[in-house]
Amino acid sequence: MATEENETTNRVGDWTRFLKNKYKNQLGELLRQYPKKRSLYIDFRDVYAFGKVGVRMAEELLENPGKVIADVRDAVKAQQLARGKGAREPDVNIRFTNLPQRIQARDIRSEHINRFVSVEGILRKTTEVRPRIVEAVFRCPGGHLTRKTQDYGQFVEPDGCGTEGCTYRKLTLVPKRSTFVDAQKLRIQESPEGLRGGEQPQTIDVDVTDDIAGTVAPGDRVVINGILRSQQRMTHGNKSTVFDIHLQANSIEVAEKEFEEVSISEEDEAEINRLSSDPEIYHKITHSIAPTIYGNTDVKEAIALQLFGGITKTMPDGSHLRGDIHCLLIGDPGIAKSQLLRYIVKLSPRGIYTSGQSSTQAGLTATAVKDEFGDGRWTLEAGALVLADMGIAAVDEMDKMQKEDRSALHEAMEQQSISVAKAGITATLKSRCALLGAANPKLGRFDEYADIGEQINMPPSLLSRFDLIFILTDKPDHKRDEAIAEHILKSHGIGELIAQHAREPIEGVDDEFIKRELAPVTPEIDPTTLRKYVALAKRTCFPIMSPEAKEVLVNYYMHLRDLADANKPVPVTARQLEALVRLAEASARIRLARRIDAADADRVVRIVDTCLRQVAYDPKTGTFDIDKVATGISKGRRDLIRAIKEAIRENADISGRAQVGQVVEVLTQQGFGREEVKKQIENFLRSGEAMEPKNGVIKLI
Ligand code: ADP
Ligand code: MG
Repeated sequence: MATEENETTNRVGDWTRFLKNKYKNQLGELLRQYPKKRSLYIDFRDVYAFGKVGVRMAEELLENPGKVIADVRDAVKAQQLARGKGAREPDVNIRFTNLPQRIQARDIRSEHINRFVSVEGILRKTTEVRPRIVEAVFRCPGGHLTRKTQDYGQFVEPDGCGTEGCTYRKLTLVPKRSTFVDAQKLRIQESPEGLRGGEQPQTIDVDVTDDIAGTVAPGDRVVINGILRSQQRMTHGNKSTVFDIHLQANSIEVAEKEFEEVSISEEDEAEINRLSSDPEIYHKITHSIAPTIYGNTDVKEAIALQLFGGITKTMPDGSHLRGDIHCLLIGDPGIAKSQLLRYIVKLSPRGIYTSGQSSTQAGLTATAVKDEFGDGRWTLEAGALVLADMGIAAVDEMDKMQKEDRSALHEAMEQQSISVAKAGITATLKSRCALLGAANPKLGRFDEYADIGEQINMPPSLLSRFDLIFILTDKPDHKRDEAIAEHILKSHGIGELIAQHAREPIEGVDDEFIKRELAPVTPEIDPTTLRKYVALAKRTCFPIMSPEAKEVLVNYYMHLRDLADANKPVPVTARQLEALVRLAEASARIRLARRIDAADADRVVRIVDTCLRQVAYDPKTGTFDIDKVATGISKGRRDLIRAIKEAIRENADISGRAQVGQVVEVLTQQGFGREEVKKQIENFLRSGEAMEPKNGVIKLI
């Protein structure tokens, strides 16, 4: 007993010396500002480096944090008393930062219970900050007070009055005499970059108290240093042998830095520099994206640019210009949209794959709910776009997203933030990510004749926020189909060969042979290197637009404006020009260049032009029409719709019925194509704008 007491005194003595030596100023400052400031932050590395005893102190802290932290508090109190300010003892929190070993939520084991651990991850949920009782005071009918310290979790009541000789069993809580602390509950989830191939991220709940409660928001990347606590699980009112764990936070470090997670060695950097000066680099990168998918070169090229991204600019007035590039792939089922999305998540240093019909409550953006997690408090939960902050969010089946997400997405895509105002919670979460969406046409297949707006379940205002929209149709094309078939059979074939060879060696097959056979589906730059490449470019490369590049972009933009000038008020918006700039920046970043050249501008003009041709080119009038994207209906088409309706009205009998044949005749005479008119009439019938009371008879509704 005596030795243990000695040890404690020793420990308090060691910490007192440590504080005097290393943290004198901080402590003085803290005590001056107390109680506005209540926490002393100690860098773990300072403890470790504190002379001969430092290593022991540091180890003790990791092994037995509860006790040691209490000792350090005692040391602070002792020091305070020595200064003679003793009147009110300040109760200071001792918080340690920069712990040596970080672990992931999935690696937490029973050996960590009651140890000091450091867990990194991304905040998924946070509750409101509400008071929690830490020392409850009870009064018995006789007037005696009984104190009971409260832990995280269930409220414990004393069995009876604590006063000697008093036999009262029923006590009432006296809130006024009890002590409360601000408390918040968090849930952190492993960060996406730590996950390999489709693993489900694991989570751990964190209990945060006092001045660090309410300092973080969902989506923040954090390191939580704390003590791993366990509490017994209850099943049907009985105590179980299984324990639940949570982290009792000691300190929270917010990791603001971008892409630091991807570590790049000197050799990596040399290799990346070599690649970046290769004249074939664009081709190489494009062919390193989903090599098992045949063709789609323009989509892959756009995805490459999206990976590297433009430059986010912050203006002196604090406003911010988006650098992230948003792309949308619309198209028939079975043309490898999902495959492409899954692949890009592998390549992005912070990628998240999710489906529009997200399984979580938070969906794509964020939500505030009152559920079990918050123990009656409101909980703010981050959705995919918040979790993908500073990365890429790949959203599949975007047309099937929830209604709330659809409206929140407008803000998320342009301002790159998500505002939540519900019940007691108002918060703005960051969503600085690039969005790669995929959507299926409403009616299953893409209809060339019908308009985009009608075919996909997304408002035009949202569509206009995409920098690039690709329409991928699955039209039978003999040559292409043959090539895809061959490509698919080849990849499957070599896969079969490898599998059989592994089971029992096949004659004539060796590593060399397999490598040669695999060549067409082997990325030229392996995914790990490409991830590093992207991270390095985003971290270090900030190119500037050259006058030549500027000229190319402005000329193209003016050309677009002029093209449609004749029939549209504002056919091409400034959004397109911004998209061009972002893409050109990304193109220069691929070369790790300091300057955006005319060649970069030419490249992106070509890509944007291809996209616009698919989306906005109106074959009827031979012009570009961004309104086709903005309103979903082209000028030519609007004319057709109007003309058909007019023709039906003009040729109708008293009850409004017209002969379809006659209507088609009238319109062909006006110069519309017969097929086109028939198609549109079918559309009317399908959409319920018209009905067919008798075969060959049409009536507008
Ligand atoms: P979507 O999401 O567009 O409906 P998927 O991504 O699920 O389509 O793709 C369906 C399947 O077809 C995948 O296994 C994919 O590999 C294959 N596939 C489609 N197009 C190609 C292509 N061009 N090259 C290779 N495989 C393809
Ligand atoms: Mg799909």
